[in-house]
Amino acid sequence: MSFNDKQQPATKLVTSGRRDEWTGTGAHPAAVVSPPVWRASTHLYPDMAALRAETGRNEDGRFYYGRRGAPTQWALAEALTQLEPGAAGTVLYPSGVAAIAGVLLTVLKPGDVLLMTDNAYEPSRSLAKGLLAEMGIETRWFDPDGVEDFTAQLCPRVKAVLLESPGSLTMEVHDLPAILALCRTHGISSVLDNTWAGPLGLASLPMGVDIVLMALTKHVGGHSDLMMGSASAGPQWYDALRRRGQMLGNYVSPDDAALALRGLRTMGLRLKQSTATALALAQWLSTREEIARVLCPMLPGSPGHDLWARDFTGGCGLFSFVFKGGTSAARDAFIDALDLFGIGYSWGGFESLATPVDPARIRKPERWPLPGLDEGDRFGVRLAVGLEDAGDLIADLERAMGVWAQG
Ligand SMILES: *Cc1c(COP(=O)(O)O)cnc(C)c1O
Repeated sequence: MSFNDKQQPATKLVTSGRRDEWTGTGAHPAAVVSPPVWRASTHLYPDMAALRAETGRNEDGRFYYGRRGAPTQWALAEALTQLEPGAAGTVLYPSGVAAIAGVLLTVLKPGDVLLMTDNAYEPSRSLAKGLLAEMGIETRWFDPDGVEDFTAQLCPRVKAVLLESPGSLTMEVHDLPAILALCRTHGISSVLDNTWAGPLGLASLPMGVDIVLMALTKHVGGHSDLMMGSASAGPQWYDALRRRGQMLGNYVSPDDAALALRGLRTMGLRLKQSTATALALAQWLSTREEIARVLCPMLPGSPGHDLWARDFTGGCGLFSFVFKGGTSAARDAFIDALDLFGIGYSWGGFESLATPVDPARIRKPERWPLPGLDEGDRFGVRLAVGLEDAGDLIADLERAMGVWAQG
């Protein structure tokens, strides 16, 4: 068992981040499969000379002080780096939002302009409107479809772009190669929130993305019991990211790192299964007269499908749909009537969830209802499809659809 770069992603999920020095002792190399939970604030030095040598030598994988982690966190970070083609290293953060903040505070300085996709995760928008604005960093939102609006907003002060594809709630897919080509021409640093596809579904650094981040809370954790984020980058950005992360005092607990590493080993299987089930549900929904539009890029005919099929190698269980007409109360009754779908935020767990989609209050006004839909087609639902049987989930949706029709 050893990692090498030519292995297929399924194999890398098993071999990555497994150094003997982290899972064994001198006498028993690779004594256990997964690294033990190293709980530590203080790291001890054998003598003063060792303490002096380590101080000022700031490198990954060296015992120094708890905030820089120990083998449990190092193993997770290295596994994520090895799964992300083109990455020189990975920084771990206590949540996905902390990763977004840590990355944007690395690539931007006062006076800069940030372009952010209009369908970005809502806390990314709050960060831009709050802390970044207070720091004198201006954010402009661009239409996620095509490159026209993106191009129209370019100016010499634009220093970074935050992309998210498929975007939160409405699932638009960017034309990534076109946007990244513009970034290169204009010297703009590109940051991608790749939580939806992860490295198995989109190898983004080789496409030209500078920094790719993920909420490990979702697919990597996979069991709805931990929060964590990561950012990976090539040599151009990795060191700056890491130092900014240290400055901001980011730390993840070894217990959570061990859980995330455990989740990572089965992520490929879980994604394959939830993708297939989500596709079956999306297909079924697309045949229903109650539905105005299914927003699932994996589904042929759904918006963004052609770009997804061109650029992505995988999907996941998260997609949305919009009812044809109806009321907010009918949509609430639909969600309440579901039995197998929990009501709650987040996604990427083994269990299915449903939440309302109401982007009007945060988006540009012309983006909701979605272009091409009627004024009344404004009540959406997002499904996070887990590992249950597709037939059972469809039966649950069908029953709730009857309740919606009465509302
Ligand atoms: C959930 C999510 C995040 C944030 O992750 P947390 O760990 O909840 O902070 C970031 N981006 C996207 C697209 C998400 O769905």
